[in-house]
Amino acid sequence: MDFDLSADHELIRRTVREFAEGEVAPVAEELDRTKSFPYEIVAKLGALNLMGIPFPEEYGGGGGDTLAYALAVEELTRVDSSVAITLCAHTSLGTQPIYLFGSEEQKREWLPRLCAGELLGAFGLTEPDAGSDAGNTRTRARLDDGEWVIDGAKQFITNAGTDISGVVCITAVTGDGDGQGNGATREISNIIVANGTPGYTQGEPYRKMGWNASDTRPLSFDDCRVPQENLLGPRGAGFKQFLHILDIGRIGVAAMGVGLAQGALDEALKYAKQRRAFGKPISKFQAIQSKLADMSTEIEAARLLVYKAALEKDAKRNFTLTAAQAKLKTGRLAVRCAEEAVQIHGGYGFIEEYPVCRFYRDAKILTIGEGTDEVQQMVIARALGA
Ligand SMILES: Cc1cc2nc3c(=O)[nH]c(=O)nc-3n(C[C@H](O)[C@H](O)[C@H](O)COP(=O)(O)OP(=O)(O)OC[C@H]3O[C@@H](n4cnc5c(N)ncnc54)[C@H](O)[C@@H]3O)c2cc1C
Repeated sequence: MDFDLSADHELIRRTVREFAEGEVAPVAEELDRTKSFPYEIVAKLGALNLMGIPFPEEYGGGGGDTLAYALAVEELTRVDSSVAITLCAHTSLGTQPIYLFGSEEQKREWLPRLCAGELLGAFGLTEPDAGSDAGNTRTRARLDDGEWVIDGAKQFITNAGTDISGVVCITAVTGDGDGQGNGATREISNIIVANGTPGYTQGEPYRKMGWNASDTRPLSFDDCRVPQENLLGPRGAGFKQFLHILDIGRIGVAAMGVGLAQGALDEALKYAKQRRAFGKPISKFQAIQSKLADMSTEIEAARLLVYKAALEKDAKRNFTLTAAQAKLKTGRLAVRCAEEAVQIHGGYGFIEEYPVCRFYRDAKILTIGEGTDEVQQMVIARALGA
């Protein structure tokens, strides 16, 4: 077992860390405060070939593996979660379905511009009545004269409403039956909908607790017509497809958890060495040292779980269990580390000038998005055979 990163992996970690510290950190507070989408940063990430890390170079991707992608996400989140989730949702949720299930034509049409960061991809699974119970999709698509006619609504969708949002892959009920022409099971399919298609509208952005500079909106489809060829993969395969996409997405969100926790620790350690009380730096008090030591230990353990999930995926092994474990572990860890970091900052941790204040607000969604903790526990228990 080799715990050292390869030279290529070290390079991507170093590149993204330098970018995050040099380009993202100086503007993160302002973007969050003004709730401004980070257009310039996305353009720079595209120029650095980071908006399509795990996709083949022939489609404009970075030709990297899942570990490279996880490292990049971790390093971005160490500094700012809004930028990280923009890249993460775009890559694992928006672009991934087209890469994995799209026809050659669909890949050629969309992937180069998505991987370049010229366009953003989104994934529309969640609905007002279909969150954890994602198969309860109410959005319907019926075939009419060679077109899918889509009616329905999506909830909490990332990246769909920016000036550069190009495409959303949505789940929709496309008929009763199992997709093989028999049975009464509901048939769900994935369909590509381009921004600008008449009948597809994005609602106002939500007022959120965190991830303030990322774009999250409700979507609605009203007699929205797209060509029949926009179906992604076989008709009726949508349920299986989105479960696989969620498995992959969990590795990215788990990398966000490690990154946020590490960022919180780094800020807390820096502050603890500067802040003096009772005549010495607070880092010299055992109570503070215990917090820092526990954070560091837990982060290292969680990081290994995330990398294991990435390596399992890259080795083409089943990674469902490890990805769910990594997501469960890191979401909770991010919340706890952000809280401890605020505690170490005392009253200053409650003030927005300090990054840990933003980290605290940004952490909570990591136990909810991409499947709640309770959903991860269900996935893990199922894998254990419970
Ligand atoms: C900022 C943000 C960005 C998002 N981005 C996207 C996106 O890009 N695309 C997308 O499709 N979705 C997105 N989501 C949606 C997100 O994935 C869902 O919010 C999440 O899956 C939970 O669904 P829900 O909100 O409907 O909660 P619910 O499913 O209603 O859950 C409510 C509570 O009940 C619990 N619960 C539900 N079922 C069970 C059960 N069987 N056993 C035990 N407990 C259970 C849950 O764990 C939770 O605690 C985003 C959400 C947010 C807030």
